Amino acid sequence: MIEIKNVSKWYGQFQVLTDCTTSVQKGEVIVVCGPSGSGKSTLIKCVNALEPFQAGDIVVNGTSLSDPKTNLNNLRSHVGMVFQNFELFPHMTVTQNLTIAQEKVLGRSKDEAREKGLKFLDRVGLKAHAEKFPGQLSGGQQQRVAIARALAMDPICMLFDEPTSALDPEMVNEVLDVMVELAKEGMTMMCVTHEMGFARSVAHRVIFMDQGKIVEDAAKEDFFGTPRSERAQHFLAKIL
Ligand code: ADP
Ligand code: MG
Repeated sequence: MIEIKNVSKWYGQFQVLTDCTTSVQKGEVIVVCGPSGSGKSTLIKCVNALEPFQAGDIVVNGTSLSDPKTNLNNLRSHVGMVFQNFELFPHMTVTQNLTIAQEKVLGRSKDEAREKGLKFLDRVGLKAHAEKFPGQLSGGQQQRVAIARALAMDPICMLFDEPTSALDPEMVNEVLDVMVELAKEGMTMMCVTHEMGFARSVAHRVIFMDQGKIVEDAAKEDFFGTPRSERAQHFLAKIL
């Protein structure tokens, strides 16, 4: 579903990604972790073509991002992305947040978009909040709306960038529960997160990044059992 091949990226003189290679199979759940500044956000933004890269290639569902003929907007509309800070439109109701891209990007009718949006809003347990504005919801509720909004686009895979790290601790689980459900349903997911409970329960593989490099890319059991690199061992010792 996602192939990342020898990707390198620079911000000016600063190399933020160095020769990153990995792949995500259909239905696979990958957790990406590593210290702050190691390039995790940059890597998943590259997968969604929100950031350009200067070397290597990324192929999503058979479409090469470096091919000038690729329609990047079309690709983005099929890849769901959930950010740390929810990124809902504050001046729109929950329903409007759920429907606008379905209508404007996918060309769905108002009724169809509404029906689909409400279906996913129900799935994240928030049907009663359809006419509220984001500011009237808790952080955990806003993040669940953001997940429902992404799902309403019928994504072929979902990318998460620290979806729970801006939340108060008591709200973390309500968001993780939704992600666990999705994983169990077979959604292909690439999740930047330090929630190792989530990683242990649903991840197939764990990628550990440090200084722009993929230092470890291992089956979950191997990663938690005996991380090969000293850096991953130190990191795990700190967060567990
Ligand atoms: P992580 O998500 O692992 O914390 P990031 O991918 O956000 O790391 O950032 C990796 C490195 O790239 C950091 O050193 C950060 O300061 C730098 N960086 C991120 N975005 C930019 C940018 N737009 N311009 C310059 N440097 C950036
Ligand atoms: Mg980040």
